[in-house]
Amino acid sequence: MPTLFTGGAVVTMDPELGDLPRGDVLISGATITAVGPDLRDHPDAADATVVDTTGRIVAPGFVDTHRHAWQAQMRRTIPDVGDLGAYVSSTLGRIAPAYTAHDMYVGTRLAALTALDVGITTMLDFSHNSRTAAHSDSAIRGLAETGIRGVHASMGPHFGTWDRQWPADLARLRSALPGLVTLRLATLATAELAGPALAYGPDLAAVARDLDIDVSVDAVFGEASSAAILGWEQRGLLGPGLSLIHATGLTPDAWRAIGATGTAISLAPSSDTQIGLETAIPAIDEVLGAGVRPGLSIDVEVALASDMFTQMRVLLAVQRMRAVGSPTSRITTRDVLGFATLDGARSIGLGSVTGSLTPGKQADLLVVEAEAVNTMPLNDPIGTLVLGADPRNISTVLVAGRTLKSDGHLNGVDLDELRREVTASRDAVLRAAGS
Ligand SMILES: [Zn+2]
Repeated sequence: MPTLFTGGAVVTMDPELGDLPRGDVLISGATITAVGPDLRDHPDAADATVVDTTGRIVAPGFVDTHRHAWQAQMRRTIPDVGDLGAYVSSTLGRIAPAYTAHDMYVGTRLAALTALDVGITTMLDFSHNSRTAAHSDSAIRGLAETGIRGVHASMGPHFGTWDRQWPADLARLRSALPGLVTLRLATLATAELAGPALAYGPDLAAVARDLDIDVSVDAVFGEASSAAILGWEQRGLLGPGLSLIHATGLTPDAWRAIGATGTAISLAPSSDTQIGLETAIPAIDEVLGAGVRPGLSIDVEVALASDMFTQMRVLLAVQRMRAVGSPTSRITTRDVLGFATLDGARSIGLGSVTGSLTPGKQADLLVVEAEAVNTMPLNDPIGTLVLGADPRNISTVLVAGRTLKSDGHLNGVDLDELRREVTASRDAVLRAAGS
């Protein structure tokens, strides 16, 4: 049955369609059929379920281009983390080896449910605790069961004993992906953190090429990563199928190589600033200077917020602060909303699938309360989405046409049962980690 969302402020993020102060969105099955000022006479609208969105904003779902979902039951365990080394030694060194396959499922599912609740319809799960094939299977199941558009980006663990099944196991994973889940290869920029096995280079590039999947590279920062980027450029390993995460403190030559090849960038504004990654300054001016539109990402819930509003606001504030008194122009609320939606989708190879309310794309959309106490009266939909709204205002979330949140509540989720499962998993991990 088609559904017609009617009478809301429609923010399409599609440059050709623009924004409609009052408009309709028609979906049929998993797909957006039409967007326009009045679709009541559209042939497909005749038998449609009509949803009145007066006083609300209809917008594309957010796209999180990098989060380590398995850690969700450990969220906010190190809220005042000192630096990258403190995170690596605690969460990756001590906690990660204690995870069973079941714990991977619990954490990943919790992160995906939280993402849906805060309006993130696409989440790239940089799953870097793939200690066994079962760990990967459980992480994928945790994504798929929620109905989110999940990208499972698979990487072996940094420390501890593991089966060494990665990256060979990617071929098996690729052959049996459930639901909306897609696959990427996940890797690190250099051998600095965890040795050469996890570092991107010709061997891992060949694995990805053979499987016809794209690559996400984490921990891209500083001189060593800049040198690595120049090496990848010489070997023809840069390009839009490669997404570099963080990108703080890179050299001008590395940015030249990124721009020349159209390599994708995922910024993690709250991670860079709060954990203090390299310069701790999100590389927004550098990436725009290179002619690339970045995606945004949440990174680690152990130390950071879980939602995209935080990322948009941190980035907006930091960039505009830096630009005062400098020749750089200041970015806008529309820019950051683009990074959080369409640009993010493009940066992980899903630009033709999601990220904007465009007919033919998947129906991944949000209905946001715009006449609530913190959003009334609605004067500027984009300003409201970026600066005014917060997760409580996201009343409805659809992914591929399926309603996963309605009337402000996740559908089919028993919160008491979820809490019991999450708490039991957290306690088991902490016991196994010896704390
Ligand atoms: Zn990361």
